[in-house]
Amino acid sequence: MINLTKEIFGIGEVFFNKTGKPIFMDDNYFKGKFYDYVYHIEKDKRTKSMCIYPDCPNKSIKKSHVIPKKASLKNIAKNGQVYFPKYIRDTANYSFELISIVSASTFPGFCHEHEKLFFGFEQPKGEEDSSISLQNFRIICRDYFAFRIRQKHLIKAYEHYKSEIFSYNNKLIELHNSLTNKNIKLRSVKDEITEDFESQLSVVGDNISEIEKDLHLYKDSYENGNDNVVNYLIKFPYSLPLALAGKSSFEINHSDNNSNNKFIIYLSILPQKTDTILNFTFSKEHTDDVNMILANFIDDFRMLSFIESFIIYGSDYWFVNPDLWQNFPKSKQDKIKTDLLITTYYPTNELEYSIFDDIRKNFIEEHKKNNRFDLNDKLNLEAQKLTYFKKYSKVE
Ligand SMILES: [Zn+2]
Repeated sequence: MINLTKEIFGIGEVFFNKTGKPIFMDDNYFKGKFYDYVYHIEKDKRTKSMCIYPDCPNKSIKKSHVIPKKASLKNIAKNGQVYFPKYIRDTANYSFELISIVSASTFPGFCHEHEKLFFGFEQPKGEEDSSISLQNFRIICRDYFAFRIRQKHLIKAYEHYKSEIFSYNNKLIELHNSLTNKNIKLRSVKDEITEDFESQLSVVGDNISEIEKDLHLYKDSYENGNDNVVNYLIKFPYSLPLALAGKSSFEINHSDNNSNNKFIIYLSILPQKTDTILNFTFSKEHTDDVNMILANFIDDFRMLSFIESFIIYGSDYWFVNPDLWQNFPKSKQDKIKTDLLITTYYPTNELEYSIFDDIRKNFIEEHKKNNRFDLNDKLNLEAQKLTYFKKYSKVE
């Protein structure tokens, strides 16, 4: 690809800087554009728009909770606040920030009418209400909402860049034409930045199509009462100090017929006063695979490990009790932040360390009390998870 304008006017001269971009497109220009892009995305995520329920013509309310405030977030909050992991683009790392449970997990998603869909199980002790089967529908809606906003601003930024770079080059070509009496026509400008935009747009587009499939599958299942969506409600016997509403990919290899199944499981971890509801949702066609996965974590002890892995390798959309987070040694906080960046593991990968130490200690004690010596190896392994961070710190 020859850039005629740059050939004619020279790089690192009057019109093009050393990187070959128009002279005004320096580092500050690109930084400014990026901050602008992030600012508008964040702003839109807080601004009322149309209800996200498919085909609903109503305006959304400002704050719909994805995780019920009274029924769950309140149970893990301290002074009405919780910590959450936030990915910081500038440092390419996670930071943990405090947020009020009034705002935690909210998005301007549903209108008054559709917000009522979730009313039943959001009441304290409402977990038996059948509306809980819709809990994970909110995860899909939130993801759809977030991706659509990203797509909108990505397109805007792309169009803006294209038009700026085109008009700059076009003016120079016209200048060249007038000086040399030639008639060169510029059709379009492509560079590594337009290519990057195009590849980002294609990724976002693919994500949106995937989410749309689930969105309609869930909506149809709800409206027509069919069983295309499967919900598993599992009660975990402790009130976990963490709430989550997210999804994770899973992959199962079937060596018998050489097939490889990839699928999504949605999970809500909803701490109640004395226990925790785990709400798994997936599409019916993957029932056998999901059963195969969950069969490995069927007792509470193993489920604890699965939950911990899901928090790290599955979804970063969670909120944690401030005391728990602040009392983690720095080595543990750092390890969690770093491991959240890993995208190559599924939650079926067991962590080498413990997140919920107190619950794990209780489980180990219980098993010892019940003389489950057949589980000695397992208990040793679990006990090792508790000492993982002591290797790094002598202060503890
Ligand atoms: Zn609506």
